[in-house]
Amino acid sequence: MKAIIIGAGMGGLSAAIALKQAGFETEVYEQVTENKPVGAAISVWSNGVKCMNYLGLHEQMVKLGGVMDSMAYVDGLTGEGMCQFSLAPLIEQVGQRPFPVARAELQLMLMQEYGIDEIHFGMRMVDIADDGSQVTATFADGSTATGDLLIGADGAKSMTRDYVLGAPTQRRYAGYVNWNGLVPVNTDFGPADQWTTYVGEGKRVSVMPVSEGRFYFFFDVPLPAGLDYDRASAKEVLAEHFGHWAPGVQSLISTLDPMTTNRVEIFDVEPFHTWTKGRVTLVGDAGHNTTPDIGQGGCSAMEDAIALSIALRVNTLGVEDALKRYEKKRTERAGDLVLRARKRCDVTHAKDPAATQAWYDELRCEDGTGIVRGIVSNIEGNPLD
Ligand code: FAD
Repeated sequence: MKAIIIGAGMGGLSAAIALKQAGFETEVYEQVTENKPVGAAISVWSNGVKCMNYLGLHEQMVKLGGVMDSMAYVDGLTGEGMCQFSLAPLIEQVGQRPFPVARAELQLMLMQEYGIDEIHFGMRMVDIADDGSQVTATFADGSTATGDLLIGADGAKSMTRDYVLGAPTQRRYAGYVNWNGLVPVNTDFGPADQWTTYVGEGKRVSVMPVSEGRFYFFFDVPLPAGLDYDRASAKEVLAEHFGHWAPGVQSLISTLDPMTTNRVEIFDVEPFHTWTKGRVTLVGDAGHNTTPDIGQGGCSAMEDAIALSIALRVNTLGVEDALKRYEKKRTERAGDLVLRARKRCDVTHAKDPAATQAWYDELRCEDGTGIVRGIVSNIEGNPLD
């Protein structure tokens, strides 16, 4: 059985590793010519880490991951603590520590694990043809690849999704812009082992530990889409939005390197429940593009990869049947996480200012129980619980 995998992001690579380990023949095609992911880091929550563990990559995750023992919210304007609590109850409830990791390092680790020399880089798929017994991808250079199934792990702007749904999908602008990057740990921003988030005015500034004494940082600002931006101006633009915020935030702005700071307009896609057509299926953002507000997009992609490999291994009525069973297992949970993230996004970014103020008020009374319960509920229901 041969699987053609389109996209070497975390979804495609996780699927490729899982299927290779299960004895499938796999071919991975990626449009870019090198490992240069957009975005500095991601938080791999416990469900994502469990998927990596399932693939035998636990030690690698421990090496790449930051030690995040506690969580805190701070009033962005005054610097006054709103709540601070341990993440130990979360880890105990779900059975696995989460690991924030530098994105490029996670990608590289997955590529190496699969076999970096085996990945076909610089190959942009432009067409899919399924004749009922085999499926063929055509690439921009005119070459083709044929297999028993095709896995579209081609991300948020997936062309495989358009093929499966029979029409282009409209992405929805979530209403905010995110700047992110990596800086050396500095306790001016927050303790080295803590996820610290400053909130106020519907905006957010956050630092989270990744390995080797670095913080992943991000800034969120509600803004229209499509504004002009010059990367070199990151500090000035952030100072415009946060110049009146607490000293920790000023210190972060003065530390960051504008040239390695990413700026991303945040979109999502309304959940849909058809991921499979014949011998073609979707994995990752192609099937469930979410806002990053609960940090679950990449984790869901990893869950897809594991669920897909299990479906293909345990069902014997053929590829099309196995893909339908995979779809049935995954679409509801993945879609639910997209909607949870959207809800969180709207509260965090002051879509309704009264609801956001109520959330700020709640944070001042929070002992961690409610927040941990919320994170646990995102993690639970994964294929490896
Ligand atoms: P991608 O990583 O987008 O990979 C798709 C790949 O397909 C790309 O390499 C692309 O070049 C390739 N490709 C596309 N089209 C073609 C084609 N036609 N032919 C060949 N190749 C093609 N998730 C978390 O779990 N935790 C977080 O903390 C988190 N934080 C985030 C913060 C931000 C600001 C953003 C934007 C997202 C965040 N996410 C997070 C979500 C996460 O980044 C995505 O869900 C994840 O990258 C999806 O992986 P993927 O493999 O499906 O897609």
